[in-house]
Amino acid sequence: MFCSSATRRTGGSQLSHERVSRRVQGLKPSGIRRFFELIIGRDDVISLGVGEPDFAVPWRIREEIIYALEKGMTSYTSNFGLKELREAISEYYRKFGVECDAKNVLVTTGVSEGVDIALRAILNEGDGVLIPEPCYVSYSPLTSLTGGEAVAIPTTPNFRPSYELINEYARLTKPRAIVINYPNNPTGVSYSKKELEEIADAAIEHDMIVISDEIYAELSYTFKHISIASLNGMQERTIILNGFSKAFAMTGLRIGYAIAPADILEGMLKIHQYCMLCAPVTAQIGALEALRNGEDELEKMRAEYIRRRNFFVKRIRKVLDIKMPDGAFYAFPSIKSAGLSSEEFAERLLFEKNVAVVPGNAFGECGEGYIRCAYAVDMEKLRDAADRIVEFVEGL
Ligand code: PLP
Repeated sequence: MFCSSATRRTGGSQLSHERVSRRVQGLKPSGIRRFFELIIGRDDVISLGVGEPDFAVPWRIREEIIYALEKGMTSYTSNFGLKELREAISEYYRKFGVECDAKNVLVTTGVSEGVDIALRAILNEGDGVLIPEPCYVSYSPLTSLTGGEAVAIPTTPNFRPSYELINEYARLTKPRAIVINYPNNPTGVSYSKKELEEIADAAIEHDMIVISDEIYAELSYTFKHISIASLNGMQERTIILNGFSKAFAMTGLRIGYAIAPADILEGMLKIHQYCMLCAPVTAQIGALEALRNGEDELEKMRAEYIRRRNFFVKRIRKVLDIKMPDGAFYAFPSIKSAGLSSEEFAERLLFEKNVAVVPGNAFGECGEGYIRCAYAVDMEKLRDAADRIVEFVEGL
């Protein structure tokens, strides 16, 4: 009887789910990905779904990268990253109130890698990690992959961190760490100094390490971003994660960094050297140029995001309850008045009006009743998308 070579090689058994580790089997597929499979290949859809700047990498950064390639700079760098880049990052972070040495900087392959190796470096089996939600989609799955326990803390109704809740959850679960992200994806909320002080107090009181994802630090509009690590007693317990994907529109170049106390950074480096070796050299060269000469381009992009934010919020406010985002490039309107679930709303908006947004529950249960709209598209598309959302809600 005919037997395919693949079947012969697997001894006749079917490819089995069981071959995937239990930890991976236990991961929920990303709510964003499931939704985006629906729109692949559809040019008629305006997407406010993807959290990615619509700008190209500023030209002078591309030019430095091209020049480096022409010179044949294509080898591995030190595991830590280029010395000049680490120095530039330590200098740059003064802007957010942190004085650190270049020795405390590790260049990573995006903040994504930073989150992964930070969690892996600090967690033992069963250690808890507090995660205020709604939040970026990777924190909880990456915690589970290390054998840690992700503990979601709701932040609704206003998406601000609550000192009381953080304290209560910390008392109950004795966590090892808390992950914060501000300005926040998906809510656009950023934290004031007072709120950061409250989180810092809770971290000190319950001896937690703070993983502070500050990837949108440059896109803070309501007030100036300060790092939680700049507060009294916090630098020794904070892992700052930041990168170039959002501020400098360098998503595909895969470049970020961690600033952490020496013992934790050494742990992170151990993992990084085995799993990544080093961040891409071309991206490191581009990042150095971004820090040295990128401010003007950054300012232009920032001004454009503010213009779009103001427009979008004003337009959507006609039909939905929406708060003015403090930063990043996301608006997170409530769709509760529409009488649909987040998924129903997003699916119907897509099928009836060809506009893609992300259901709020993709960012944690307490995101239910909201949708995330990324205003990282040009004004013409944004205007069109906003009009269609208004039409959709009015027609319900
Ligand atoms: N952290 C947050 C809050 C994000 O929104 C994103 C991307 O959307 C990332 C991390 C991943 O960033 P990177 O491109 O640096 O891996």
